[in-house]
Amino acid sequence: MPGVPLDGFGREIDYLRISLTDRCNLRCTYCMPLHGPAFGTREDVLTAAEIEAVVRAAVGVGFRKFRLTGGEPTLRPDLLEIVARIACVPGVADLAMTTNAVLLPRLAPGLAAAGLRRVNVHLDSLDPERVARLMRWGTLAEIWAGIEAAEAAGLRPIKINAVVLRGENEADVVALAALTRERDWHVRFIEAMPLGGGEPARVARGGLVPTAETRARIAAALGPLVPLPPRDVADESSNHRLLGARGVVGFISPVTEPYCGTCNRMRLTADGRFHLCLLNDDELDIRTALRRGADTRTIGALLLRAVHHKPAGHLLAIGRSTEERAMHQIGG
Ligand code: SAM
Repeated sequence: MPGVPLDGFGREIDYLRISLTDRCNLRCTYCMPLHGPAFGTREDVLTAAEIEAVVRAAVGVGFRKFRLTGGEPTLRPDLLEIVARIACVPGVADLAMTTNAVLLPRLAPGLAAAGLRRVNVHLDSLDPERVARLMRWGTLAEIWAGIEAAEAAGLRPIKINAVVLRGENEADVVALAALTRERDWHVRFIEAMPLGGGEPARVARGGLVPTAETRARIAAALGPLVPLPPRDVADESSNHRLLGARGVVGFISPVTEPYCGTCNRMRLTADGRFHLCLLNDDELDIRTALRRGADTRTIGALLLRAVHHKPAGHLLAIGRSTEERAMHQIGG
């Protein structure tokens, strides 16, 4: 087994987030504009076989953890094939997916059978009207049915990701956190990040609610949040438990409490580029090499080059973020 690759700052990078598509069946206000995002063509997007080739190369240079994301990964017609191909690669220790869950009632059993371990589901509120306003094309009932389908299929632990937005759902965090009293779910609150310029970036910039405020709001309503020891140093979520609760309340604070120093991620965009840091435009093309028939060693060498060039951290504090790509194009 190869050792875990280190980047130029000594961080262990062993986690690849793979975007399967830049398309989505929702239009969350802080993520995608309602009209006019330019989507890649079918030819732009890596095939199932190309994705498997990258995963084999990644395992070959020490990567262990993989996550499918997007856009909305469940929109890929060949999703089950992709999961099955990755799950069969020796050395893949973890395979998870980030999704809005709308299509999970149909897909969850097949995904579990194909080798997916667990899902993170994106849900910003338990108020149906607010979900309709923030996530636009989806409904709470659809997402909830998807969460239940994932749980029934054994895709556990269920993690819920809620982006907290000023003037929208900052009070809804209490009801979401209260879910953990009865259920062994992880409910995580994410600070909004400006990405990609344009409308979503503006919404996120103006909508930031600092984690300290969200944490205080939950504690005031539901009682103390007891900090839990980190499961591993690269966990971006600062985890807590309400007294007597079954589940976990987590806070992901890229803006006010950045965790770049322990970042363990590399991203692969749907159109075949290694994206070196979520909040930065640096990318390294891999699709050209794949389509010229590059072997596993060559792909692995390109991945190591990407790891080596990972920036030290994001520059949100001085107002810089990615301009060329929005969240749905990078893979959240
Ligand atoms: N469609 C899937 C979903 O909704 O989870 C996967 C892709 S989505 C881009 C992944 C995650 O990114 C979601 O949890 C979403 O809330 C989060 N996200 C999107 N835009 C964001 C932003 N501007 N700031 C913080 N989180 C964001």
